[in-house]
Amino acid sequence: MFKSRLHKFEFKKKESPDVFLSSQHGMYTYNDLNRFTAFFKDLVDTKTEGNFERPVVFISESSDMLLFSIAACWKLGIPFTPISPKTKESELKEYLNRLDPSLIFCDVANRQRLDYPNVVKLDENFFLNAFTQDVRHVTLPDPEEISDEQLFGYFFTSGTTSKPKIVPLKRRQMISAAEASALNFRPDPNHFWLLCLPLNHIGGISIILRSLIYGTSVYRLGEFDEEMVKEFLSENPRFQAASLVPTMLKRLLDDPLFNTHHEFKSILLGGGPSSENLIRKSVERGIPIVASYGMTETCAQIVANPMLAPSGMYTPLKSVGKPFPPNVVQVRDDDGKALGKNQSGQLWLRGPQVFDGYLDPSQNEGRFDNEGWFNTGDYGHLNGFGQLFIESRRTDLIITGGENVNPTEVEEAVRKIGTIKDAVVIGLPDEEWGQKVTAVVTLKNGETPQLTDVRSQLKDTLVDFKIPRELKIVQEFPLTATGKVKRWELVKKFK
Ligand code: ATP
Ligand code: MG
Repeated sequence: MFKSRLHKFEFKKKESPDVFLSSQHGMYTYNDLNRFTAFFKDLVDTKTEGNFERPVVFISESSDMLLFSIAACWKLGIPFTPISPKTKESELKEYLNRLDPSLIFCDVANRQRLDYPNVVKLDENFFLNAFTQDVRHVTLPDPEEISDEQLFGYFFTSGTTSKPKIVPLKRRQMISAAEASALNFRPDPNHFWLLCLPLNHIGGISIILRSLIYGTSVYRLGEFDEEMVKEFLSENPRFQAASLVPTMLKRLLDDPLFNTHHEFKSILLGGGPSSENLIRKSVERGIPIVASYGMTETCAQIVANPMLAPSGMYTPLKSVGKPFPPNVVQVRDDDGKALGKNQSGQLWLRGPQVFDGYLDPSQNEGRFDNEGWFNTGDYGHLNGFGQLFIESRRTDLIITGGENVNPTEVEEAVRKIGTIKDAVVIGLPDEEWGQKVTAVVTLKNGETPQLTDVRSQLKDTLVDFKIPRELKIVQEFPLTATGKVKRWELVKKFK
C-alpha cells in the first residue's frame, strides 16, 4: 500500500493566517518572504552594482528556493527568466546571448554547464544565508513605486510546434490576469492552491503571482507525482484548487477509486486539449473541473468556465468558457474575415492580458493586425452563448483532398476502439491527397488492431475522408515538459 510522505506536515493555517508557501520541506510566512526578498535585493545589488533593469536568469529545477526567488523578483521589480534545465547546450548559449542577463542563478546540478562570470549557486547555503544573514539595513521598495509598465519577465512557450518562443510580459498584464482569475476563483485566505506544475513555464508562475497579489497561500508539491497528489486532494480539508494539465488529470483518473474531498473547490484544467472522455469521467465522479484556455502570450488562462456556475446554466462538456472581460475573442477565416457563431476558424484575442509581441520581432509577422488583435494560431468556434470551443491548432488541421479534417474529432473516435489506449491523428504528405489522415496509436495490452478493422469500426461515426488511411503503432507519444504531444515529431518520424 502507498505509504504517506505527507504525514510530517501539519496544517497550521488557521493559527498563522499569513502563510505564503507550504511544501514538504516547511512552511513559510509572508514575513519570511520579506526577509528573503531583502537578502535577494542585497545580493543582486552587490553582484550587479545596482542594475535592476536587465533580467536575472534562473536555470533550476522547481524548488522552494526558486519559488522564493521568483516572488522576490516580483516584489523588487526585477525582470526574470526561468530557463528549463533540460535546454540543450547550444540553445542555452543562444538564449543567454539574446537575454543578456545581469546575473544567473543556477541549481547545483546545472552549475558546471555554465561558463559565465556572474553565476550564483542556488544551493542549501543560499537558502540558509537568506534566513540567517543580517538584512536590517535593506529597505524594500514601496510596491506603488514599481511601474506597471515595467517588464515582469521573459517566458518560454512550451515548444509544442517548434523551438520555444520568448514572450516578454509586462507587470500590468500579469496583474490584469490575476484580477480576472480572482473574479472567477474568489481567492480565499483560508485555503491553499496546489502547485504541481513546473516553475519554468507561465502556468506554474502565474499561481505564485496570484497568491502574491491576493495574499493567499500556495502548497508546492514538487514535480507531479500522482500518488502524492491523489492523497492530497482526497484527504486535505483546506484546499481551494489545483492547476493541472490534462495528462496529469488523466493519470489521477486512471485510479478508479480517486475522488476529491468535499470541501475541495476545483481543478483548474488547461494548457492543452482534453479528450471528451476525460471531462465526462471527471463529471461522473463528481470531480469539479473548471476547463480553461490560455497561452504564455496571454499570461496563462484568459478564457475559463465559471467556477460556480449557477444551477441550470448551460455549460457544454467541451467548452472552455468565455474570455475574462474585458479580453475578447474573435473567430476569423484564413483571410482575416470575421465569422459568425458555430463557424470554425482562427482564434484572435485582444485585451489587457495579451502580450505586445515576441522578443524576436520576426516571429510577430502575421500575428498582429492594425487594431491590436493577436492571432493565437489556434482553431475553434464560439456558440450562440459566446462560449468557446478549441478544436485544434491551425497548423495541426489536416487538409486532405481539399477537405478540412480536425484531428481532435478523429482522435475522439479512434480512442473509442477497444484495443486502442490513446490516439494522435496527424497529416502525412501524400501525392494524391495532399495530406493523408494518419492515426498514431498506443495500445492496451492484447491484440494489435489492423487498419481495415479500424477503418470499418469508424464508418458509422466519421465521414469517409476523415477516416485514417494509415495506422502507426507507438509505445508512447513524445511530450513537452507541459505534457503536450509534439505532433511535429511524429510527422517527422513517419513521413
Ligand atoms: P509553442 O508555442 O512553443 O509551440 P505552446 O503553444 O504549446 O508551444 P504554451 O504557451 O504553453 O506553448 O501553450 C499554449 C497553447 O496550448 C495554446 O495556444 C493551445 O494550442 C494549447 N491549449 C491551451 N489550453 C488549451 C485547451 N483548453 N484546449 C486545447 N488547447 C489548449
Ligand atoms: Mg504557442
